[in-house]
Amino acid sequence: MVELIHRSPDIYKIDVPLTGNPLKNLNCYVIKDGGESAVIDTGFRTEECWQALKGGLSEIGVSPEHTKLLVTHLHSDHIGLAGYFNYPDTTIYMGKVEYEYYRRMKEGDLMGRIDQQYRLEGFPEDELQDAIKTNPASIYLPDATFPVTTLQEGDTVTVGGTTLTAIFMPGHTPGQMIFYIADKKIMFLADHLLFDITPNITKWSGIDDSLRQYMNNLERLLDFDVDLPLPAHRNLSNKTLEDRVAEILAHHAVRLNQILKVLEKQPGATGYEVAGGLTWSMRGRAWKDAPNRQKWFAVGETLAHIEYLMAENKVCRVKKERNGKMIHTYELV
Ligand SMILES: [Zn+2]
Repeated sequence: MVELIHRSPDIYKIDVPLTGNPLKNLNCYVIKDGGESAVIDTGFRTEECWQALKGGLSEIGVSPEHTKLLVTHLHSDHIGLAGYFNYPDTTIYMGKVEYEYYRRMKEGDLMGRIDQQYRLEGFPEDELQDAIKTNPASIYLPDATFPVTTLQEGDTVTVGGTTLTAIFMPGHTPGQMIFYIADKKIMFLADHLLFDITPNITKWSGIDDSLRQYMNNLERLLDFDVDLPLPAHRNLSNKTLEDRVAEILAHHAVRLNQILKVLEKQPGATGYEVAGGLTWSMRGRAWKDAPNRQKWFAVGETLAHIEYLMAENKVCRVKKERNGKMIHTYELV
């Protein structure tokens, strides 16, 4: 499904379905101006996503062989099909920090280190193995790296007479870039701010306190004059950015408090056990019956919040041996 959502420059939204995933869809945005085009994000590396994207692009006369592809971040629902744009007449753009992290995920030992981190937080091995096997975050990534032109804060990409400015907004991922058309007050938000769901904030290997970084950058969004905020998933909204930023900050404040309550009752809990004591929208399922990949995301999110509380000196980490293995446990300070 393709929808024209803005004229001059013409901006289209292609609905790319993410079947079976709680995110439901990806909003792929296409900007056309003066015979040029740019595509923002792609969907998973699956046949279903590719057919939806390719069909949408051809409907509006854009070919993956002659365009610009802007990848906002390394999540598979955004970068998955980027390799399908690897043509001499198409430039793929990505934030420098994000691209370097992505390369380490694909070519280095980063994924192994992330798995090890989950073991340390008490994630049971059988559940971890199942989560790794079924995790869309890794199985729908591109099968190889591809050449990109890297962007840093303030760099611009032009599409005919339209200028897109890259804004560095890490937090959701180590180096997510969002894009701003300043003279039209249009912001392509990627997953930095979504209207119907709260973006997942997780613990990234080698990065401290991603939640604080995220919350600071959420407030930074309000420095920009935005009339048309365009999120990467689900519905556009009539809600103002100010209202939505306040709601998301309140959501994290509630979650931080819940964690303190769990640790009050269960001092010495692992990250996995803290996550199990929180309330999640798991479509009505109890924690023990939740799919392992959802537990994986929930534990990552819990760890990001625990790190925030550790930086506030409200929670401390105690390393312990349990069943012959070293694990992290947490206590109130
Ligand atoms: Zn994402």
